[in-house]
Amino acid sequence: MSKGGFTLLSNTQNQALYELQKELWGYAEPGFLEHRSAAAMSKFLRQEGFTVTEGICGMETAFVGVWGSGHPVICLLAEFDALYGLSQEADVSEYKPIEGVATGHGCGHHLLGTGSIAAAMMVKDYLEKNKLSGTIKMVGCPAEESGSGKAYLARDGFFDDADAAITWHPSTLNVVSSGSNQSCIQCYFRFHGVSSHAAGNPEAGRSALDAVELMSVGVNYLREHMDSKERVHYAYTNAGGISPNVVQAEAEVKYLVRSTTNPKCQKLYERVINIAKGAAMMTGTTCDVIFDEGLSNVIPNFTLEQVLEDAFFKVGVPAYTEAERAYAKQFRDTYPLEPESEVTAVIAEPKALIANIQNSDICDIILRHRCVDECSMGSTDVGDVSWVVPTAQINTACYSYGAGGHTWQWVAQGKSTLAYKGMMLAAEVMAQAVEACFEHPEIIEKAKAEFEERLAGQAYECLIPKDVKPHIIQ
Ligand SMILES: [Zn+2]
Ligand SMILES: [Zn+2]
Repeated sequence: MSKGGFTLLSNTQNQALYELQKELWGYAEPGFLEHRSAAAMSKFLRQEGFTVTEGICGMETAFVGVWGSGHPVICLLAEFDALYGLSQEADVSEYKPIEGVATGHGCGHHLLGTGSIAAAMMVKDYLEKNKLSGTIKMVGCPAEESGSGKAYLARDGFFDDADAAITWHPSTLNVVSSGSNQSCIQCYFRFHGVSSHAAGNPEAGRSALDAVELMSVGVNYLREHMDSKERVHYAYTNAGGISPNVVQAEAEVKYLVRSTTNPKCQKLYERVINIAKGAAMMTGTTCDVIFDEGLSNVIPNFTLEQVLEDAFFKVGVPAYTEAERAYAKQFRDTYPLEPESEVTAVIAEPKALIANIQNSDICDIILRHRCVDECSMGSTDVGDVSWVVPTAQINTACYSYGAGGHTWQWVAQGKSTLAYKGMMLAAEVMAQAVEACFEHPEIIEKAKAEFEERLAGQAYECLIPKDVKPHIIQ
């Protein structure tokens, strides 16, 4: 029978990893505040014989655990930040926030971090046993959800000596990722006007709130004249106070602009800036643009994707008990799911997926993936890594079918054995793929040649300006 991720480490190590992910689930720390999580992961890596450096590239909660020497240098990426607004009791199949807790692991990054550590341990054992040269780096990447942790690592040259980077994400499916994700820029537009009595002396006032509203109108007219794969989102972060009888002297709006490539994203961002300038002119206010975050699009690497898919089939899926299947059903029942909605361009055999969704409450097959170039909506800071080193990712089923990421259902299932099995599956698939790269250096050469061909001479230009330092995103 397939062991699906439990063949490479000792029972004691497997148990310790089970405990580590539960510990991180309990901390549930948001971006750049992951102090306890980073400390626990660093300590764990040290105990496993890795040389750990904490606080890299100006980020207190970024760290790296290194084992081995020389090339190839292969990085395993680990995320571990949580989300606000997703407090939830574990194992309860109804929405039930934990009193006094504001955050939760709704994207499964406690598993992501621990799973990448597990993979690094497996690779270390392999290098040791086979007396191979080469370096494995377990990179603790903070603030994925908000903060752009990996973009700072890439911008500041952390990956410059790396030959490949591999990562994964907890999911409801077992499938290799492919294609791209959007570039994005997030910033604040802060308008400054003049306050006055809104009835008695309105002619003396200049409303910053009017400027914010006119900016929204302008951007909403822009929408028809931008690429259909571009997105612009906004949120009012300061509406100028609660008094309608005071002309609002200060108001602020936050914008998130997305496009398929960095240059296109920059251009769209400039168009939005021009609209802000127009709104300021119309209202007699001034506007400051405060840069917040920027992420690059993903450069896929089909060579590494294929190595990961081969490893997936070699490892196989875990066996699930009847109790685990009943547990999965409870959660699936909380969320309606049209099987067809799970089919994306990456799924090579849609019928196999739809049949599995109809017959099982957890994905218990490996789905073949299609190598695609197309851009999916949404952004990830893995994009910046993929611009400086050949990078590929997988997804493994850690949760029942039904709800997707950023839901209370994912938080609730986060400490279950289902989640743990998905995590260990990811670890072993990544480890087998990395081992294949160490054993066959020609894989790395091929991945690098593909990488160069895709970039076609374009240099990586991080969307975050050099003078912007890592900071907490509200
Ligand atoms: Zn997320
Ligand atoms: Zn995530």
